[in-house]
Amino acid sequence: MIWDCAIIGGGPAGLNAALVLGRSRRTAALIDNDQPRNRVTLVSHGYLTRDGVRPEQFRNLAYEEIGRYSTVRRFRATALEVSPSRGAFRVITSMREEVWARTLILATGLHETLPRIPGVEPLYGKSIFNCVYCDGYELQDRPLFVLSEQPGLYHFVKTVHHWSRDLIVLTNGKPVLTSVEKEKLRVKGVPVVEEPIHSFRGDEGRLTEVVFHSGAFVQRTGGFIVPHWSQKAPFAAQLGCQPDGAGGIAVDELGRTSVKGVYAAGDTARFGPSQLIIAAGQGSKAAMAVNADLIDEEF
Ligand SMILES: Cc1cc2nc3c(=O)[nH]c(=O)nc-3n(C[C@H](O)[C@H](O)[C@H](O)COP(=O)(O)OP(=O)(O)OC[C@H]3O[C@@H](n4cnc5c(N)ncnc54)[C@H](O)[C@@H]3O)c2cc1C
Repeated sequence: MIWDCAIIGGGPAGLNAALVLGRSRRTAALIDNDQPRNRVTLVSHGYLTRDGVRPEQFRNLAYEEIGRYSTVRRFRATALEVSPSRGAFRVITSMREEVWARTLILATGLHETLPRIPGVEPLYGKSIFNCVYCDGYELQDRPLFVLSEQPGLYHFVKTVHHWSRDLIVLTNGKPVLTSVEKEKLRVKGVPVVEEPIHSFRGDEGRLTEVVFHSGAFVQRTGGFIVPHWSQKAPFAAQLGCQPDGAGGIAVDELGRTSVKGVYAAGDTARFGPSQLIIAAGQGSKAAMAVNADLIDEEF
């Protein structure tokens, strides 16, 4: 069988693409290995009608809705290889299946590398987050830190400051703030600590202290960090899709990449402000582009 579309990745981007393709009377193979980016968090915010939803609850609701469309099939597997072949695309999965499709939607999301600081991982998604629009409301007015080892920290601090003025800025020993930025933060009363961090201490996901190499520590109950982001899957590069110069994939308004028949949606397409609802919207648009382009071929 040759599917109208193979969707690789079943986060909100891939799931919404599957829904719209099903509703467009298209056959779609949704290949997903169930490792969404927000799996570390307890609840998700900011998705209208689903504010405060648990990640697995969100996915189960989506599976239920997509299950109503008989032309969509879910493959619970990892896509291992993707290649163009005989005018279509061939996907080989970890379940030793070959999925052939006329078009591809890449919705594999991104990989996050957290700062290499002991204690950060068990707290990430519980009291340490990366997206202030997702989790800032719950942390408002609490004693927080903002940590980044990358340029752009000053802008991030300004944003978090809107949610809590009880802030401390951490660079983990990296020179990522200019002297002008440090002076502006001093005037605002926001302390900056550039000393390397020894560890984060916490209890059952709740941050209690940031400990520095000198042995000094500061009590905090939450914070925001900037992880390093990279593509979770290599398929866009392997297929020759043009990158966007900022880690993502160059796409048009509807998610078409530079390679005919290949579309991208969600975090994988654009590194930047990312939320479930943004990814879902991009998945919907990519599905419309797939359907429109297939109609053009067929009509
Ligand atoms: C700690 C944390 C908290 C967050 N909180 C919120 C929040 O409150 N609200 C909000 O809106 N957003 C939140 N986000 C952001 C949100 O999780 C992402 O923006 C969203 O998940 C992006 O959706 P996506 O479909 O692009 O990618 P993902 O959700 O990451 O989905 C990608 C899917 O592709 C699959 N996949 C990858 N490679 C392969 C492969 N080779 N084969 C098969 N499957 C593959 C993965 O397993 C995964 O299921 C949070 C993120 C983090 C890290």
